[in-house]
Amino acid sequence: MSVNRIFCIGKNYAEHVAELASLGLDDAPPLPDEGCVVFMKPVSAIVEAGTEIVLPRGFGSVHHEAEMVVQLTGGGRDIDISDALDSVAGITLGLDLTLRDLQARLKRQGAPWERAKAFDGAAPLGDFQPYLEQDLQALSFTCHVNGTLRQHGHTRDMLYPVARQIHLLSQLWSLEPGDVIYTGTPAGVGPLVPGDEVTLEGEALGRHVWHCA
Ligand code: ZN
Repeated sequence: MSVNRIFCIGKNYAEHVAELASLGLDDAPPLPDEGCVVFMKPVSAIVEAGTEIVLPRGFGSVHHEAEMVVQLTGGGRDIDISDALDSVAGITLGLDLTLRDLQARLKRQGAPWERAKAFDGAAPLGDFQPYLEQDLQALSFTCHVNGTLRQHGHTRDMLYPVARQIHLLSQLWSLEPGDVIYTGTPAGVGPLVPGDEVTLEGEALGRHVWHCA
């Protein structure tokens, strides 16, 4: 199934929210009552696994955010939490690449994040694995850069579990076949530079490698 739209969930792991705050890169608290932070990337941002990520130059640091990604069969509007996982077709891992310095400036200005999050190459996406009704909140995954462990996440730590994400998204968007959700990143984000090799791996989520140029 080709990718239709790319939804991304922000601030979905408490330790990552805390690390951004401690670096002075974010001072806004999560919004537990209003629902999760949502933004989108264009499908033109996708970089298939096994190919090259061309990092943007001249805009400061480019951070890796390793994330579980789910693809939907559709589902439409106003999906109940209890039915939400019926519309999951596949699961994989991806990178929500972020121009971190630019994003911090945009946040201070109260401006949209697109320039920091939606540029060409900003959505490296692994090959989808079939969803076999595993517990999506019981999966661990890692991000290695040049063989060094940078991120080790576990989906039980999500503030908004996948079913709730689907429910919340479906209140504003009629979910369509091929829509994907980047489900947020755990702690350990950091910069990538040309020459780096990034490997994402997780049981049931596959192993996916990119080279940075
Ligand atoms: Zn992210």
